[in-house]
Amino acid sequence: MTDCLFCKIISGKIPAKKVYEDEKAFAFEDINPQAPTHVLIVPKKHVIGIDQATEADAELVGYCQLVAAKIARERKLEHGFRTVYNVGPDAGQTVFHLHLHLLGGRQMHWPPG
Ligand code: AMP
Ligand code: ZN
Repeated sequence: MTDCLFCKIISGKIPAKKVYEDEKAFAFEDINPQAPTHVLIVPKKHVIGIDQATEADAELVGYCQLVAAKIARERKLEHGFRTVYNVGPDAGQTVFHLHLHLLGGRQMHWPPG
């Protein structure tokens, strides 16, 4: 999608600190990190968000979780980490290209804010 921030990051039109890439997914450092590790994992396919995803996107939705776990292993987040899909305004979703937050490197709080 031409007018999408994360599609532009995936295609290299907007710079980002790339963490991981394969044929299905792209991961980069969040520009406003909320933890020592804050990486966004996005499918290369433009999917708007979890609420708009269909069964055809099921593999991608889960695949992003596996990429997050791989990055967490590489960063030795053995004490734990959190993965989050924000959905809609109440959850603070601001970018409408599916993205999984990987947060780690500090104690997480529950319930989240
Ligand atoms: P969300 O609020 O769940 O939609 O998450 C969007 C995330 O994208 C936020 O954590 C932002 O800090 C992050 N973000 C926005 N613009 C950029 C950018 N150009 N590069 C990296 N991360 C970004
Ligand atoms: Zn997009």
